Amino acid sequence: MKVFKTVDSVKRNLLNLDKKFSLALVPTMGALHQGHLSIVKRAKRENDFVVVSIFVNPTQFDNENDLKKYPITLHQDLKLLEDLDCDLVFVPTANEVYNANIESEKFDFNGLDKAMEGTHRKGHFDGVGTVVKKLFEIIKPDKAYFGEKDFQQLQIINKLTEISKLQIKIVGCEIYREKDGLAMSSRNTRLTEKQRKSAPLIYQTLVKSKALFLKKDIIFIKKFIASEFKKEKYLQLEYFEIADVKTLTPASHVEKSKKYRAFIAAFSGSIRLIDNIALN
Ligand code: AMP
Repeated sequence: MKVFKTVDSVKRNLLNLDKKFSLALVPTMGALHQGHLSIVKRAKRENDFVVVSIFVNPTQFDNENDLKKYPITLHQDLKLLEDLDCDLVFVPTANEVYNANIESEKFDFNGLDKAMEGTHRKGHFDGVGTVVKKLFEIIKPDKAYFGEKDFQQLQIINKLTEISKLQIKIVGCEIYREKDGLAMSSRNTRLTEKQRKSAPLIYQTLVKSKALFLKKDIIFIKKFIASEFKKEKYLQLEYFEIADVKTLTPASHVEKSKKYRAFIAAFSGSIRLIDNIALN
């Protein structure tokens, strides 16, 4: 497994790759867990050559403390990727990626960034779009793999490839969960024992919202979910929304022809957790 830190070295190395090979990119921020690894395994199965990037992108953080406390476990990450027979890991510094200009490009994502994570994390998706576009330009993958855990991000990346006219197939991968249902996240390692115990409520309420979907109206479901969170002192609900999967606009009523997902963001102390579920 090759590990590169500079843009020039990774580009030079990929130039030598057989043009017939299908090249996959799995962008990550490191602190790898089984959720990340399940994506890498899938990318390995479906491609000839897999690149994983590990880069904690400063421009997508709206909260300085969250960025400062983001877990970094590079040595262990490289070991895990080596065990999966990953072909290449790109571990750049911020200056390397941003060429000393650490700022976001402004994108028009056609409203996909106007709800949920977009409203609660100002500038987040411009930061994500900026770094993913840069990674795509450096690696030039045929396919790029993203998790449905960040479903809004996945749809925004789809839009990014459309508006930037990139010939990259975006592959969405299922959410990988702990046994108790908690979606795996690098931030889970920061939870205290009590916070960790209460965190599965996020997934449990999503499952309940799925059971209520089409039986009760959306206003009822929203009130019910909010009341479930009020009972749990270690979790504060930031938002619960039911949104059309294509536009990501929060819905107030259901249209039979459309597909919907339920989305939750909640705080456990200062740690922000997100999750979502397909409803129909
Ligand atoms: P991150 O390192 O958090 O930026 O995540 C890197 C990629 O892994 C993103 O596409 C995430 O959506 C995806 N991912 C993170 N956690 C999970 C999970 N539990 N299941 C599936 N994909 C995930």
